[in-house]
Amino acid sequence: MAEKTPFEIARETLKQLTLRKLAPTPLNYQKIYSEVAQLPFEPPFPAERLREIALALPTKTPGQQKQRGLLESAINQLNWGGVKTALMAYGGFSPAAPESGKTGLLLSDTPKLLPSPPIEIALAPAVITAPALTADFFGQIARMIEFALPALGSDDDRFLEQTQALLKSLRDPSTDAITVKQMLAQYSHRLSFAAEDQAEIKTVLLKLLYLLVENISHLGIDDSWLTGQTEALMAACVPPLTLRRLDDVEQKLKDVIFQQTEAKSRAVQAQEEMRQMLATFIERLAAMNESTSGFHEQLEAGARLIDQAKTLADIAPVLKDIVGATRTMARDSQVARDELQSMKKHAEATEAEITKLHRELDRVSAQARHDPLTGALNRQGLEEAVNREVSKVKRQDTPLCMALLDIDNFKKLNDTLGHATGDIALAHLAGVTREVMRPQDTLARYGGEEFVILLPDTPLDKGIEAMTRLQRELTKRFFMAGTEKVLITFSAGVAQLGPDETGPQAIKRADQAMYLAKRAGKNRVLGA
Ligand code: GH3
Ligand code: MG
Ligand code: MG
Repeated sequence: MAEKTPFEIARETLKQLTLRKLAPTPLNYQKIYSEVAQLPFEPPFPAERLREIALALPTKTPGQQKQRGLLESAINQLNWGGVKTALMAYGGFSPAAPESGKTGLLLSDTPKLLPSPPIEIALAPAVITAPALTADFFGQIARMIEFALPALGSDDDRFLEQTQALLKSLRDPSTDAITVKQMLAQYSHRLSFAAEDQAEIKTVLLKLLYLLVENISHLGIDDSWLTGQTEALMAACVPPLTLRRLDDVEQKLKDVIFQQTEAKSRAVQAQEEMRQMLATFIERLAAMNESTSGFHEQLEAGARLIDQAKTLADIAPVLKDIVGATRTMARDSQVARDELQSMKKHAEATEAEITKLHRELDRVSAQARHDPLTGALNRQGLEEAVNREVSKVKRQDTPLCMALLDIDNFKKLNDTLGHATGDIALAHLAGVTREVMRPQDTLARYGGEEFVILLPDTPLDKGIEAMTRLQRELTKRFFMAGTEKVLITFSAGVAQLGPDETGPQAIKRADQAMYLAKRAGKNRVLGA
């Protein structure tokens, strides 16, 4: 049979449309045309409609953005396969996943995906079915809720009940997706309140802590050590709060409480002893006064009797009384002297005890974990912090950097501007460091003008970067000594803790790098 010309095909098509009483729509025309021309029928590709759908899809996550991009390029290429793959991936299903099953995840705004005809994708919202995926998905939600639960507090019984009910349903294989969806909607509502509550509680607690510390600082106004500590504490109470900062607050509070209690109980004891001694002394004085004035009265009475005496016999009994009174007086005096002697010894012992107490307080101060001048950790505090960080590295396998910095030409600063200005420079450096470094970083005074900074979760290059940033900040922030602007610089070495290295070994490497930085001309940071 000779091939029909397009004209013949068109005429035959129109004839068939009339014969079959079909409406002359473009779709019907194309169907009959394909039949007459014996060509496979390809419905027109609804690119515009599909583009509208693609545009309506939310792109909140990078995954959604990617899948929408793929969908759009499939539409541009008129590629039904690509459209299908992109839409399934957008809904979280792999194209190979089974497309029917007993439980399904109902997503009311997600179109039904069927292999053919593809045009239906745009039409009917329905059910996506993927049972294995659903169970796994529910399991993941349950785990996520369990992980988050400790952060949401345990005060709200109703919330806890609701959580348990939701967890049970999520883990129950017979629960359907619609129920879970409803429960999740209710739960997320309540969850938002619980999270708000926790944030509020945290803020209020911080305020209380700040108030408490402020009060302590007023009580111990005369104690410079205490003033320094409480100022550091107040600074540590300011948000944002990290666990590290809280830990720091706890350590400092312990120091303050310990020092205060120790000093107070000893002071009360010493005061009581002094009070008792004073009472005894006054009692003794009164007694002595009494016996002395009695003695005087006896003497005066004796003198009067002697005056009036006519015979020696009259004098004899008077003399006897006087001798008796003198003896009593001597005895009383002896007793008083003995008592005063023993009180003197006691007072000396108390004085020695007080001296000992002062020495002990000095020792306790030395044991405290913070340096009073800069508020940074002292060597003892550093040792504890290093142990803590190193064990965290072993547990969590995260990088830890240790930096050692030494102020440049500090001796010269002391010599030209005085030791007091040197002290201010040290406190200034510590202050700037605390401001510039992250809250989780730890600052410790390692020696006179040497500091160690612990940088958790930091690889070497970032550690060097952080120290260089601090160095830059420090050169921007001078302080005044009288009318003179004082600018300090430092040299630093940074070491990242090695897999088999101890904390002190890493600090030693940082120290060597710092030494090289000094040799290289100072005011620089070198990695170890
Ligand atoms: P370099 O740049 O090589 O580090 O020189 P430098 O002068 O800083 O180093 P050096 O170690 O010779 O001097 C450190 C000085 O720090 C000596 C000491 O008097 C002083 N110093 C140590 N502790 C304190 C302190 O608590 N207050 C004050 N004002 N000075 C201190
Ligand atoms: Mg030094
Ligand atoms: Mg120095």
